[in-house]
Amino acid sequence: MKIIMIAGDGIGPEISAATKEVLQAVNTKFKLGLQIEDEIAGHASLKMHGATVTEALLNKVKQVDGLILGPMSTYDFKDEAKGEINPSKFFRKSLDLYANIRPAKTYQGLRSPVSDFDLIVVRENTEGFYADRNMEQGNGEILVTPDVAISLRRITRQCCERIARTAFELAQSRKKHVTIVHKANVLKIADGMFIDICHQVGKEFPEVSIDDFIVDAMAAHLVRAPQKFDVIVTTNMFGDILSDLTAELSGSLGLAASVNAGTHHAMAQAAHGSAPDIANQNIANPYSLILSAAQLLEWYSHRSGKSEFGQAAKAIADVATSLILSKEVTKDIGGHLGTKETGAALAKGLLALD
Ligand code: ATP
Repeated sequence: MKIIMIAGDGIGPEISAATKEVLQAVNTKFKLGLQIEDEIAGHASLKMHGATVTEALLNKVKQVDGLILGPMSTYDFKDEAKGEINPSKFFRKSLDLYANIRPAKTYQGLRSPVSDFDLIVVRENTEGFYADRNMEQGNGEILVTPDVAISLRRITRQCCERIARTAFELAQSRKKHVTIVHKANVLKIADGMFIDICHQVGKEFPEVSIDDFIVDAMAAHLVRAPQKFDVIVTTNMFGDILSDLTAELSGSLGLAASVNAGTHHAMAQAAHGSAPDIANQNIANPYSLILSAAQLLEWYSHRSGKSEFGQAAKAIADVATSLILSKEVTKDIGGHLGTKETGAALAKGLLALD
């Protein structure tokens, strides 16, 4: 398996280094034949190539089996004409990574303000309220006059169908329950269509139960009784917001892992941003990116039929769970280790497995 790794901005280089150490450990332990190549994007690329991402990099990524994208200073990149392209959007759109899969669960030994839960947010990734990706040309945000702004939200049948199918397929291998989250009381046409299509796709999965919630009520339900949910399928922005909530409910945004998956490509990416406030202090939690990388190995295992990649992914998650319990982790999740030491402890635990 060939992987391209982009360290990213802010805490990116620190959590990427820890992730690489863990991948090297599973590579040794499970004889995966992993090849990891480093590339740059974001501020480093802007400095060197005049653009945060380049077509040459995209072509390289298309030739490999997976991408690990470190957090990017998305907020700094405002003007595409100056090469300031949002790398996250660029890869999601160019590689058609339509499913952003964001698991969240509570861990033994880690205090959570809510009852125990284990769920996955399946977020549509290629359209919705994201002005930078919902138009063929131009941008979905328009300044009509200095005092009037319009943001367009695009919802299409094809994107609803494929994200719904991803959610139902995932639910089949879990607790067989899908919750559709929407705002159809206000967005009657677009979210009405989203709900209808999810129910239609659901008919192909008769063993999976379905319910649906309005997004604002869902936020309350997630705090009150997160254990009631299994797979949550929703549109782009609702998924982005709710998955930060579920990550934090699980203990820390530093546990927020995700994979962006399409038919042919996948990209591991922590669900949080570049957290410049804690950069270069060796305190960021690398588990978000490490667990994202494990999701990428899992995706590749399904795609290639090579079970050792699935075993490696499970081993990373299992050893991480035991280290959270023994508090050999970063401070944000109750431990006392730095970023580097947390990666090293996980790598050591993996190499020590029977
Ligand atoms: P950006 O502008 O790139 O989105 P941000 O700081 O506004 O960055 P996040 O990176 O999502 O947004 O971070 C929000 C807060 O969550 C940070 O201030 C940081 O304290 C915390 N945080 C984020 N990621 C981690 C992490 N891996 N480990 C520990 N704390 C984190």
